[in-house]
Amino acid sequence: MKASIYNTTTDTEHWAACHDCDLLLPIHDITESQVARCPRCNAVLYRHKKNSISKTLAFSLSALLFYIPANTLPILTLDIYGNTGRNTMLNGVYRLWEQGFWWMAFLVAVCSILMPLFELVLLLTISISIKRQRYTPVLPFTIKLQHLTSSWAMLEVYLLGIIVAIVKMSDLGNLVLGQALVCYLVLLAFTLCALQSYDRHYAWQATEFLRDKSQRNVNYEK
Ligand SMILES: [Zn+2]
Repeated sequence: MKASIYNTTTDTEHWAACHDCDLLLPIHDITESQVARCPRCNAVLYRHKKNSISKTLAFSLSALLFYIPANTLPILTLDIYGNTGRNTMLNGVYRLWEQGFWWMAFLVAVCSILMPLFELVLLLTISISIKRQRYTPVLPFTIKLQHLTSSWAMLEVYLLGIIVAIVKMSDLGNLVLGQALVCYLVLLAFTLCALQSYDRHYAWQATEFLRDKSQRNVNYEK
C-alpha cells in the first residue's frame, strides 16, 4: 500500500525534504504496511522497519563482540623464503605511519578502525536508551551524531582493499589467511545488518515521545 505524506497542513513542527527533489513535505505517521512517497518525483521517503530497535541492538552488540579480534588477530601471514610476517589491522596502520604514509595511516585508522567502532557504539546507545524508555538530553545529539558519522565508516572499502592485497600477494610467497579475516567478515555482516535495521525516523519519533513523557512527569511532580 502506498501513501503520499503530502497535504496542506499548517503544522510546521515536522517537515522533511525529499532526498531526490528537495521538495519540503510535512511528515505524518504511517502504518507498518504503508510507504511514504514524494508526490512530485515518487521517491520513497520513508517506510516502517519492523522491530527496528531490538534488531539494531542485537546486531550492533554482536558486531562489537567481533570488533576486538578483527583488529588484533593476524589477518594475513606471508611466508617468503622462510621470512614469515604476520599482519594485523593495527599493525598495518603502524607500518604505514612508519613508512611515511602518515596521511594514509590516518585515513585507514579513522575510516576502518575508529569510525566503525564509534558508529556501533552510537547505534547501541540509541537502541538501549529507547529500549529502556529513558529520555536524556544526550539522546537527540547521539542520533544526529550517528547520521553525521555514518558516511565515514567504510569497513566494506577496507575489505575490498584486503581482497586486492591477497590476490596481488599470493604470487609472492606462501600466504595463509588469518582468523581476523573471518572476524572482519562477520563484523562487516553484523554492522551492515545493524545499519539496515536501524530506523532513524522511528528513533526520532520515540525520542520525541520520551521527551514529552519526561516533561509531563516533571510538571506532574511540581
Ligand atoms: Zn521528490
